[in-house]
Amino acid sequence: MSDHPKAYPLVQCVACGGSLTLFGCREGYRYDRCLACGTLQLNPMPDPDWLREAYAERYHAAGHYAEDPEQRNRHGRRVFAAMVKTYADLGGHIAGPVLDYGCGWGGLLDLLRAAGIPAEGADLSRTMGAYCRSRGHIIHEMELQQLAQQRPGAYSGVFMSAVFEHLPEPDKALAAVYTLLRKDGLFISLQPTAGFARFFGTLFRAGMKRLPLPRLHEVICPPWHTVLYTPEGMKRIAERAGFSLAGVFRGPVQTGTGPAGAVKDALELANRAGWSMLGARWPLCICHIFALRKNVPAQKET
Ligand SMILES: [Zn+2]
Repeated sequence: MSDHPKAYPLVQCVACGGSLTLFGCREGYRYDRCLACGTLQLNPMPDPDWLREAYAERYHAAGHYAEDPEQRNRHGRRVFAAMVKTYADLGGHIAGPVLDYGCGWGGLLDLLRAAGIPAEGADLSRTMGAYCRSRGHIIHEMELQQLAQQRPGAYSGVFMSAVFEHLPEPDKALAAVYTLLRKDGLFISLQPTAGFARFFGTLFRAGMKRLPLPRLHEVICPPWHTVLYTPEGMKRIAERAGFSLAGVFRGPVQTGTGPAGAVKDALELANRAGWSMLGARWPLCICHIFALRKNVPAQKET
């Protein structure tokens, strides 16, 4: 079924613990859908160490990194701006710096700085880290768990742009984010979600699960995209990790050039209209922005 020997089968949904059923397969990988919350997830789930090696060996060669920093940041600007606005609207009152984990070429860091929000980045890519440092940003070259050990309570916000859907151990990742955050701190995550994948993955196969899943603008992208959550799935996994879901927002479509850019702009307009009518039930949003607020347990009386 799959070319990675180190993988572990899921017996229940990673988000809510619900039962799983086959959604479809692509390139030798299988995605299951949760019957309770609708979240799509790789099953078996890749082993984290195997996945780390796969990123080092294959991810770059497969063309997943944008090579031109300025173009990447320009095309992502609409998305980054929406993330900054979400944070400013919900968490602007919390003093302290924010962290952009998986900051890439620093487009979000640039906008945070422009909005007067002190920000630091983290990325494992030396090339990207060096580029961001050359633009005056503080960059940590560390994994999430290591950062959480070294900088507990250091941040009023943690951002992830197109990162959370890659993580094979989301509970551990949320625990690390919880540790990094101050009281009332916000986790702002933009990620591709299950609704778009389910809508087109079902439509393009005419409901036949045995046909291979379409790639869908790199949304169905194994083994890199491990979990595509629904808003309900994010709510459930967030609550288990000590967060409350502060909001679910429409993720804008990136801009582009040429005909592909025109298609993206048309989809952006359609999504604005659809979202205003149906909200989170509108199925053509590729991505959503989730805002999770850290709950602080009430002090025990002594
Ligand atoms: Zn579920």
